Amino acid sequence: MENNIKFNKRGEKFLSFMKKYGYYIFAGLIIVAITLTVVLTTTSKGSDLNIDTTPPTEEVDAYALKFDLPLADCSILKVYSSDKLIFNDTLGWFETHHGLDLVSAKSSDVLAAAEGKVTEIYTSDLEGTVVVIEHNEVYTSKYASLNSDVAVKVGDTVKRGQKIGTTSASAKNEVNSGAHLHFELFMDENEVNPADYLNIEEK
Ligand SMILES: [Zn+2]
Repeated sequence: MENNIKFNKRGEKFLSFMKKYGYYIFAGLIIVAITLTVVLTTTSKGSDLNIDTTPPTEEVDAYALKFDLPLADCSILKVYSSDKLIFNDTLGWFETHHGLDLVSAKSSDVLAAAEGKVTEIYTSDLEGTVVVIEHNEVYTSKYASLNSDVAVKVGDTVKRGQKIGTTSASAKNEVNSGAHLHFELFMDENEVNPADYLNIEEK
C-alpha cells in the first residue's frame, strides 16, 4: 500500500511537473529539430558547391563582333546611302545604295569579314553572284558582284579572312563600276552602313 501511494505521489508530481514545464520541453525539442535541419541542409549545400567544379557560363556579347576588311588594301568606290540618292552611272539614274562598293588595286580576293557560316549562295542578274555569311545571332554579311566560281559552299564554316571568292563585274546594275565587291551588312536583319563597322577611309 505504501509503495502504491508513493507511486501515485510520484505520478502526480510528474504530471504537475509536465503541466508546468511540458510546454518548454516541447518547444525546446522543436528548436533542436529546426536547428538540426538547418545545419544538415547548409552542410549538404556546402558539399554540393565543393563537388560542382563546372565554371560559370560567360555571357557573350554578340553585338561586340569586330569585322575585318573583305578586300585587302581596298578603297571605297561607292558609299552606302539608305536615304540620299546617289548617281548610278550604269543605270543612268539616282538611287539609294544599300551596300558599300569596294575595290582593291592589289588583289581581287574577297575575304570573310568575320568567322561564320555560309548560309546562301546565288546568282541574280542585278546582284551577280552572291555569298551570304551568318556570323552569330546578330550579324549577317553579304558579298555581291563575285565571280561565279566561289571558293565556298552553303553550310561551310569560314574563318575570318578566309577567301570566299573573287571580285567581278557580275552585278549588272553596277557593271560600269568594273570588277568590285558590293558588300552589305545586316544587324538583327536590318541593313546597316558597313563603313561604320570597317576600319576604312574614303578615297
Ligand atoms: Zn553596290
